[in-house]
Amino acid sequence: MFAVKISPYFKKLCDTYPVLRKMVEFDKRENDLPDLEFTDPASDHGQNHKISNIAIHRYPDRLLIVTTLQCASHCRFCFRKSMVGSHALAAGGAVSLVDELPELIEYIRNAPGVREVVLSGGDTLTVKPWILAWFLKNIKQIRTLRTIRIHTRVPVYDPDLVYRYKEALPYVDTIVVHVNHPYEITDDFKEAVAFLRKNSIVYNQSVLLKGINDSSDTLSDLSYKLVQSGVTPYYLHYLDLVQGVSHFRTPLKESIQMVQNLRGRLPGYMIPRLVLDIPGGKGKIALEKQMFRFISDTEIMVRSPLDGKEYYYREQL
Ligand code: SF4
Repeated sequence: MFAVKISPYFKKLCDTYPVLRKMVEFDKRENDLPDLEFTDPASDHGQNHKISNIAIHRYPDRLLIVTTLQCASHCRFCFRKSMVGSHALAAGGAVSLVDELPELIEYIRNAPGVREVVLSGGDTLTVKPWILAWFLKNIKQIRTLRTIRIHTRVPVYDPDLVYRYKEALPYVDTIVVHVNHPYEITDDFKEAVAFLRKNSIVYNQSVLLKGINDSSDTLSDLSYKLVQSGVTPYYLHYLDLVQGVSHFRTPLKESIQMVQNLRGRLPGYMIPRLVLDIPGGKGKIALEKQMFRFISDTEIMVRSPLDGKEYYYREQL
């Protein structure tokens, strides 16, 4: 069972903003398993793309490394919840970056198409700081590799932890944080992000969650606060088909419309892309309403995000 885990910092934030509590408190509906939900919707357990105990090579240019099975707190909607936490550790899923490094280096050297290493988990910023620094230093020396990216929700759950990684962070090019609600953006979060930005570009990915952030007003406020903190909104994930999370799921059509409604009220660079991970590890697609249709090879009808009406446009070469 996916244990309840809440950092003292986030617990305090939940006391101030009870809406946040829904993300970390157990709900008995988690025990439901509707027909179409899976324990491993992204097929991370599957052997198809696994090239070692901790690495998944799904996209040709990127290698995902599961650096740990631990997180600072547990999100009840986590798509990897069957792999994260004490039950996963007890089932023998322990991760050792030290043991795996030689094989990984060998693999990346022989796969020059791999341009980016993505470190995820669990939460990479819960790995022992000296191990992460040593691991990244070695990975960074592979000449065919262009960038290193880390995914983390630590700046939200326990922002003080980021300062322990001052040796490791200079090796990181991109950091993707995970913020779902404007209330998660506190002064502590902003300071932690400022620290991360010394070396890296920082993006955000959110999960669209019913009763938490499923309104254009909340999403719009979130985007403004992210940008004011130096974070670029990037992805908004439509909830995966993971077991026991249906109470967090929003209707598909309304979700697409909600993100569509952000056009016209937010500058383009603040609008996250609503994305869906196709179950079975088949990749990610953007859920976007078509804003144009071809009426001939050179003519299209385009829909205005401002008044919703269609207008004629002709190619002019
Ligand atoms: S921080 Fe990420 S990996 Fe950890 S429980 Fe939350 S969603 Fe899952």
